[in-house]
Amino acid sequence: MRFRKRVRGGNMQALVKYQLGEGNMELREMPEPAAGPGQIKIAVQAAGICGSDLHIYHQSIKIPIVPPVVTGHELSGRVVEVGEGVDDVRVGDRVTAEPSAVICGKCRYCRIESYNLCPQRRVVGYSWNGGFAPYCVVPRRCIHRLPENISFEAGALTEPLACCVHAIIEMTHVAAGDFVAITGPGPIGLLALMVAKAEGGIVCLCGTSRDRARLARARELGADYTVNIDEEDAGSRVRSLTDGYGADVVLEASGFPGGGRLGLDLVRKQGKFTQMGLYPGPFEIDFVQIAYKELQVTGFLAQKRSAWERALRLMAYGRVDPRSVISHEMPLAEWRPAFEMFERKESLKVVLKP
Ligand SMILES: [Zn+2]
Ligand SMILES: [Zn+2]
Repeated sequence: MRFRKRVRGGNMQALVKYQLGEGNMELREMPEPAAGPGQIKIAVQAAGICGSDLHIYHQSIKIPIVPPVVTGHELSGRVVEVGEGVDDVRVGDRVTAEPSAVICGKCRYCRIESYNLCPQRRVVGYSWNGGFAPYCVVPRRCIHRLPENISFEAGALTEPLACCVHAIIEMTHVAAGDFVAITGPGPIGLLALMVAKAEGGIVCLCGTSRDRARLARARELGADYTVNIDEEDAGSRVRSLTDGYGADVVLEASGFPGGGRLGLDLVRKQGKFTQMGLYPGPFEIDFVQIAYKELQVTGFLAQKRSAWERALRLMAYGRVDPRSVISHEMPLAEWRPAFEMFERKESLKVVLKP
């Protein structure tokens, strides 16, 4: 049986990056989108502000932005319209959506389900209208149903959680008993903490004095150790906890050059260093340590279906609860104070409600 419901188009208030360059974002009237063939229209219930949304605001990210575009790529909501040819998603379904809105399906990455690396990839919130709006339309392929016990707020954070699953489980292969040092206790650092703990890691989270509240939250969430690097030498602390060797795994989640440099110091010889944060540009780092320490250095970009399915299972079975990184829920109209608060590190994850 197929359910189709035409929703009459009008205008809606959406947070739009209207031109490349610093800033250039505002709430604007945009036409309410309709679901084309193979597409799903979602009434957005929650949309998370990501560190990369600040990069979009400041134009400091390498992922192509095609303005004018509705921003927001961490979203959840209810299906309100189902396009022609879709018979397995229904009006009323509670869903979240992957941001890989366009992929070619033919390149070597798409053929092995690593479509997050497809050169033709168009990303929700960058070059495809996103979730900082009352409505958002995506292809059926992007849709994941939310299990009943996952709230819309948690569901909106499936995207960053799937990033952590992809980076930590699929790429880095953290194993039980690994000593894992994480630099940067922001939302990604804290989600990384939860995923590393779910994998059985012993986790030490490093932050600065500005991160005091975030480090306290990390302890509540089960961090085995936290280090305030302004008060304590993180290298000596981590080495003293690891018989002088250093961390088996470093997850760099700060996106600040200092975090990258610290991570190279914390990781042990033959250890693993995974870059999770996105630096705004190139910076100086003692790269030769990769040779001296025989490091395995890993990167990752976004996520793919396998990571989404695992992230949803981790939430559904209560192994990870991303709501614990949400500090504020605010109406979309208050996006500017929300962005500013996040940038000043006065909040953790902020979820906007259209
Ligand atoms: Zn994100
Ligand atoms: Zn491709």
